[in-house]
Amino acid sequence: MATGRMNQLLVMVNLCSSVVEGIEHLMAFKENDRLKEDTVTGLLTLEESLKGFMADKSVIHETKWMAQVIKTRLFVYDQEFKNRLYRWYFSALKELRNLMTAEVERCPVCSGKGETHYGAVLYMEDEDADQYVLEPVRVFMKCRDCGNYYLAREESRLVNRKKGTNRTKVRCERLLADIGEFAAGGTMLFIGEERSPLYKEARKAGYHPQAMSLEEAGGQIEGDKKAYRIVLIDRISRTQDLKLILTQAAEYLAEDGILWFDGPDLDKSIKNLEKKGASMWKGEVAEVCMTDRGIDALAEKCGLSIRSYRHVGTASGRIEVIAQKKE
Ligand SMILES: [Zn+2]
Repeated sequence: MATGRMNQLLVMVNLCSSVVEGIEHLMAFKENDRLKEDTVTGLLTLEESLKGFMADKSVIHETKWMAQVIKTRLFVYDQEFKNRLYRWYFSALKELRNLMTAEVERCPVCSGKGETHYGAVLYMEDEDADQYVLEPVRVFMKCRDCGNYYLAREESRLVNRKKGTNRTKVRCERLLADIGEFAAGGTMLFIGEERSPLYKEARKAGYHPQAMSLEEAGGQIEGDKKAYRIVLIDRISRTQDLKLILTQAAEYLAEDGILWFDGPDLDKSIKNLEKKGASMWKGEVAEVCMTDRGIDALAEKCGLSIRSYRHVGTASGRIEVIAQKKE
């Protein structure tokens, strides 16, 4: 699930409701030019967004009709109009719900079709009454086409989440040694913060890391981008578009440069769950979890090819990847 698109759909649902409220208000107090303008703008924005999502044509058409009618006042505020308004409202909401379902099933890596793979259920008992809560707090989907796993639902209010823990000194040294096999020393684009332990260890290992945040890296214009022999992404935080981040990071790569990144290892996490019988993960969750098969497909989509990768960690597994620009 691409979080950005899902958020856009949620904004559209809210916009539908505020447009209906606006029109109801106009029906009661006819003279309000400002409100009329806002309502028309809201409807036209909705129409554009629905087109962008390739929504059902009749819903797009009806939204446009509604905007034109409000704009030119070619109607009387009667019961017939009211009926048509609510018909539009419910059909728009229904279409948005369909689009949301489709979004959950759309793999954020390859746009293929995802199926439910794993759901973590939270069980909570109420001390006084015989009541209990049993609901899915996390649902993971697996893509039929590329094999990647991705997060489709998370109820963060129910999950007492631990902050992502820092890497140990030993792990930093080992991963820098992995990078050293391709490029020992020299300047490195460090996508992350200077206070990160990995940044400090990179300096100790003889690299010259230049720190840049993910936002900065993504925001730079084409011509301003310097090419690096090493690009390292310290941490990809949750609910971010992994494909976009990797594609952007790849733009900083010199022709023979390497890109280092890591992510949660889904198979390992599932095994831990089975062994320990934990009903859900309390750790930080990522939007895309990696698998042996999935990382190749992911790299492919981002214009990269995998040079090497490694499974690390015992408690919560991760996969560390070294990739290069695809030839
Ligand atoms: Zn896929």
